[in-house]
Amino acid sequence: MDIMGFLRQRAGDFRCPVCRRSLADCELRQLAHQGPHYTVQVTCRHCSMAFLVALEVQGGAEAEATPSQMDPISPDELLELHRQLRDFEGPLTELLERPSRRD
Ligand SMILES: [Zn+2]
Repeated sequence: MDIMGFLRQRAGDFRCPVCRRSLADCELRQLAHQGPHYTVQVTCRHCSMAFLVALEVQGGAEAEATPSQMDPISPDELLELHRQLRDFEGPLTELLERPSRRD
């Protein structure tokens, strides 16, 4: 699926965690893609704050995935990612290569 197109459509539903303005015209950059997992960098046009959004496309094969099968991205999740990034020191690549843990 066109994950970037999907995010572009949805971006206007969310606000920048820093300046609280709409992310409708934010800059989107896909950093990583492994199976159903996507990592996208979002950069606010207004204050230039950049943060990562981690997405998992549900429902099996990509070709069968539709936006309705994805969990909505909540502003809280964006905020949490922002907090994690703010406290993180080191290269971005190190952050992306960290194994994710699920409890
Ligand atoms: Zn902003």
